[in-house]
Amino acid sequence: MSEIFLTNTLGRKKEKFEATNSLVTIYSCGPTVYRNVHIGNLRTYISVDLLIRALKYNGYEVRHVKNITDVGHMRSTGADTAYDPIINEALKEGKTPAEIAEIYTQAYFEDQKKLNILDAHVNPKATEHIAEMIALTEELVKNDLAYEVEGTVYFDVKKFKDYGKLSGNTLDKMGQLLEAVRVSVETDKKDSVDFALWKLSKDDRAMVWDSPWGKGFPGWHIECSAMSLKHLTKAFESGKFDPEEVKTIDIHSGGEDLIFPHHEDEIAQSQGASGKEFVKYWFHGGFLTVDDKKMSRSAGNYLVLNDIESKEYKPLSFRYLTLTAHYRSKLNFTWESLTAAQIALKNLYREISRYYQESEAKIGCAEYEERFLAAVNDDLDTPKALTVVWELVKSDYPASAKLKSLLKFDEFLGLDLHTVSSGKISDEVGALVEEREKARAAKDFAKADELRAEIAKKGFEVVDEEAGPKLKKIIQ
Ligand code: AMP
Ligand code: ZN
Repeated sequence: MSEIFLTNTLGRKKEKFEATNSLVTIYSCGPTVYRNVHIGNLRTYISVDLLIRALKYNGYEVRHVKNITDVGHMRSTGADTAYDPIINEALKEGKTPAEIAEIYTQAYFEDQKKLNILDAHVNPKATEHIAEMIALTEELVKNDLAYEVEGTVYFDVKKFKDYGKLSGNTLDKMGQLLEAVRVSVETDKKDSVDFALWKLSKDDRAMVWDSPWGKGFPGWHIECSAMSLKHLTKAFESGKFDPEEVKTIDIHSGGEDLIFPHHEDEIAQSQGASGKEFVKYWFHGGFLTVDDKKMSRSAGNYLVLNDIESKEYKPLSFRYLTLTAHYRSKLNFTWESLTAAQIALKNLYREISRYYQESEAKIGCAEYEERFLAAVNDDLDTPKALTVVWELVKSDYPASAKLKSLLKFDEFLGLDLHTVSSGKISDEVGALVEEREKARAAKDFAKADELRAEIAKKGFEVVDEEAGPKLKKIIQ
């Protein structure tokens, strides 16, 4: 197995990836499902997909858990003007929070499919893991790392000595910083740096749960500690939280805005409850920006996948666009860059469609395969990987060998290159070609033309060559 190097946010340098087990465990912070995700969110999910594909490309077996942040924090009426208008609208239409979550969960899965983002093995929902969140909170109280104030439980940050290791926001530096990121009305905390694990329900929450501290709802960060430990370790297998069964998770991922406070707080919670290292490698993707500003709902500069599809762009053109930048770099979105990506992808399809019906190659192009793997394993260097693709296309290797290598590369790239190679022709199309050959032999050219049109309807152009007819996939 070759060596993979990844940038670990913990330490901020490229490190050789070493799995703790034969099965690589990955947890990704997933979508919030009370509205459509935007293409900035999708860029992060594509980056994580590339990581997973890179591991598989190298022969690792992977277990990937990506959570769904559903509606635990939603209020029961649409009256709250602080809300996203989409939620207000849906609530006013009489939809329940669970229905809203279901609609946008399915919408997310559709986006994921269109972008060739591989399904995670489990997509746990936050609201189905309240018991685990309560159990972790109880453990933290027991370990004297959390305290209750009138139905709300806070993590006592000063008691967790490793706080700040991931983000660099160490306790001594932190006071002001924390104040800046947290819009907080929590005045009963011992210290402003403390964060809530469980909150007392004071108002019209749509969903509240019983807990040892009364009716309430969980803080945001605890859901990912609970779901990652539940689905990637045996910590909850006995029905209770068992710190002995906690194992270090290989990789945890998200966009760079999650480093602090979300992931810092997840580490504090998970390590505070188990006493063990939570995650070995922290993988964070860079932002998709517009005019150099982070794409976000709140800034109003966002697009959803449907917006680009309705302008006749293929979702995979967006995937191609993301490959042109390194996953950790900022990528500034413009329509021009998306157009360029779409043209490049179509050109690639066109090239591949010419590699028609060559006899199956036994070998690919070893030299290019080596360079491609080196790019993948150098912290997922997708711009370099694309360069190798284009150099291979332009090389004078036989078409069949190029095709073999490109189809292998696509296991990482996820650009659907197999659908444009006409390597596998259905029996039905094969029979039509044969029939057309017979018609031509009998000089029945009208029939031959009819059959050519029929074959075209099935997506192939017949190219008559000296050695016989060949098929070329028609690219739309
Ligand atoms: P959220 O729903 O805000 O939790 O975001 C879901 C995922 O998308 C998280 O991993 C975020 O870090 C990521 N994300 C949010 N905005 C952007 C952006 N503009 N570019 C890239 N990733 C983003
Ligand atoms: Zn999370």
